Amino acid sequence: MHIIGNKRIPFRGFQAINLFGIVFARRECLPLSAVTINHEKIHTQQMRELAFFPFYLLYVAEWMFKSIRRRSFRQGYLSISFEREAYANQEDLSYLEKRKRWGFVKYM
Ligand SMILES: [Zn+2]
Repeated sequence: MHIIGNKRIPFRGFQAINLFGIVFARRECLPLSAVTINHEKIHTQQMRELAFFPFYLLYVAEWMFKSIRRRSFRQGYLSISFEREAYANQEDLSYLEKRKRWGFVKYM
């Protein structure tokens, strides 16, 4: 996994963002923990299954919809199925070896 440390991406309050399989991390958050790297690897797998661009469309649509429903961007973010799968399994470092295809669907 390629990780690029920098000062501005992602916004303050987030450690890292995965853009098309490349992880941008705030410099003060480096080195990323094995758990965070696993979280981002789960997202890369989700992106591959959705051919990348549809992943972002669904991600943003789900974030907006759930933020409105829960009246909170933070709660909306934590409710996105891609995030729910990643957070639920990030501490299992062998999760990706046993994960079934479309593993995020059961978190919708
Ligand atoms: Zn995430």
